[in-house]
Amino acid sequence: MTAIQTKSVFSVSERGYYGQFGGAYIPEMLYPNVEELRQNYLTITASAEFQAAYEDLLRDYVGRPTPLYLAQRLSEKYNTTIYLKREDLCHTGAHKVNNTVGQILLAKRLNKHKIVAETGAGQHGVATATVCALMGMECIIYMGEIDIKRQAPNVARMKMLGAEVRPAMSGSKTLKDATNEAMRHWINHPTNTHYIIGSVVGPHPYPDMVARFQSVISEEIKKQLLAKTGTELPDYVIACVGGGSNAAGAFYHFLDDLSVKLIAAEAGGHGVLSGLSAATTFLGKPGVLHGSRSILMQTEDGQVVEPHSISAGLDYPGIGPLHAHLWDAGRAEFYAITDDEALVSAMELSKLEGIIPALETAHALSVLPYLKAAPNETIVINLSGRGDKDLETYMKHL
Ligand SMILES: *Cc1c(COP(=O)(O)O)cnc(C)c1O
Repeated sequence: MTAIQTKSVFSVSERGYYGQFGGAYIPEMLYPNVEELRQNYLTITASAEFQAAYEDLLRDYVGRPTPLYLAQRLSEKYNTTIYLKREDLCHTGAHKVNNTVGQILLAKRLNKHKIVAETGAGQHGVATATVCALMGMECIIYMGEIDIKRQAPNVARMKMLGAEVRPAMSGSKTLKDATNEAMRHWINHPTNTHYIIGSVVGPHPYPDMVARFQSVISEEIKKQLLAKTGTELPDYVIACVGGGSNAAGAFYHFLDDLSVKLIAAEAGGHGVLSGLSAATTFLGKPGVLHGSRSILMQTEDGQVVEPHSISAGLDYPGIGPLHAHLWDAGRAEFYAITDDEALVSAMELSKLEGIIPALETAHALSVLPYLKAAPNETIVINLSGRGDKDLETYMKHL
């Protein structure tokens, strides 16, 4: 992780705002925890000792740097030049571990010995349980009761790694409710527990902290592209957005390089107007969810609308405040990709390149037919995760 020297117009403000989005809208009971984190995260993570420990683990445990792979057959098909940033090759199969490794090192330095987290599909739960096992810390994961049933393999992984999985029984019994219960747990255990949020959402400083941990992705892309092509700037960077952490990491070091087009793929579900989607920027309005002001899908009177996506990792009714700002400022372009389009792209990458992507990642690949990039233009797609966890869904559509 590189310390950022120059102030970007897309950097977070002292109080946690990206333009009109962000902040820390939290109950008073949570204030001491969040404030302790806010006052310490920059100093601790910037220290040479922390950086050395973080870099060691990223290299030897996570397996970084991940390759930047020139996908020749995919490039031929779209008559352009496509590189895949292989986050699917990270330990545990996705980018999420970049963040959990960083946060567990931070938790240790804050003298927190217990970890709480929320999870939807279970990917963040597995990445959290993994680093807790690594550090010998107690780990409690809240997961919606419905998600526990539909994501059994990841529940088994978390248990094997020594974590306790607690069902969230309220509301729709999915990710949003698991997040509420994890926050409640943190309120009740303020002194010895750290809450590891899995995306660039939540109250300040979480969105900025998670984006910094994930920014290793674009730091590496720049170096790798320079070595391969002689320039560190591609024409496009494409990533899928659930909460937005893999996209934030892939965009981070390109935010001020305005020639680089940043493209975000959201889950269009059955279609933006179908009532079954998670296309937040198309359907959402400004509002507050899980501690920050952002764009979220809501009814006229501000009740959160249940999202839908074929991929559990994109099934979230909001996006992080950085992405809300990038959308608002016109810095990033957003596409709503349907479930069916994502399935086609997953099959296509598997057949053309021998890489089975996660369903979430497939949404990013589905942007390709819309881009009409020139043959000499360079596209980097962040391959956020591998598809092993999605085989059951893929088998139904083969
Ligand atoms: C969790 C997940 C996502 C969505 O989360 P972001 O915070 O938006 O990155 C995307 N891809 C994979 C493989 C995931 O596991």
